[in-house]
Amino acid sequence: MNPWYAKAVLLAASVAMVVIRAPHGQRSRQVKVAKSWRGSLEVALLALAWIAFFVPLLWVFPPVLAFADYPLRPLPFLAGVVFYVAGLWLFHRSHADLGEFWSITLEVREEHRLVTEGVYRRIRHPMYSALFLYSLGQALVVPNWVAGPAYGVAFGLLFALRLRAEERMMCETFPGEYEVYAARTKRLIPGVW
Ligand code: SAH
Repeated sequence: MNPWYAKAVLLAASVAMVVIRAPHGQRSRQVKVAKSWRGSLEVALLALAWIAFFVPLLWVFPPVLAFADYPLRPLPFLAGVVFYVAGLWLFHRSHADLGEFWSITLEVREEHRLVTEGVYRRIRHPMYSALFLYSLGQALVVPNWVAGPAYGVAFGLLFALRLRAEERMMCETFPGEYEVYAARTKRLIPGVW
């Protein structure tokens, strides 16, 4: 039996994610791409992440994923809501700080500048931190072994295979400047890694 409040939180978080990103997606289409590093692996990983974003929504309509359900307990659920909220806040802030330089994939825009302020001041990948927080929230809120971790697994794979390529691209685009920025920041967690 899927608790209605877990479904409501899952749906609200998924809608919030789309609503936060939509205006940036539209705006980024208007700024020309100067150079793209998008390979076929990146395209496959992005497709996987998209599919994994919609898998949890199947759980809302039982019995599709009912075989993998387990009982929801209050504490993990509440912790999940906190992670979801933190993730969505950081997702919003990182889009706002990156502005027109945001891309869904590995590419740089015309007149691209290196953003080092706002949530980019202490970590280089706040948007990825946000997506990990969101994934953790989802895994805790959705009491289903498939729907809960689906997005986290797909995003983790995308992150693991993209991080080095993205940092190499940034070094090539901002020679010197990115190394200095990288030396004084961490990747995902301020002061830790
Ligand atoms: N990895 C970052 C950004 C994700 S969006 C984060 O997690 O917050 C991916 C695009 O953002 C890349 O293709 C690159 O063009 C751009 N980008 C990444 N870091 C940037 C920075 N510090 N300043 C400007 N653009 C950046």
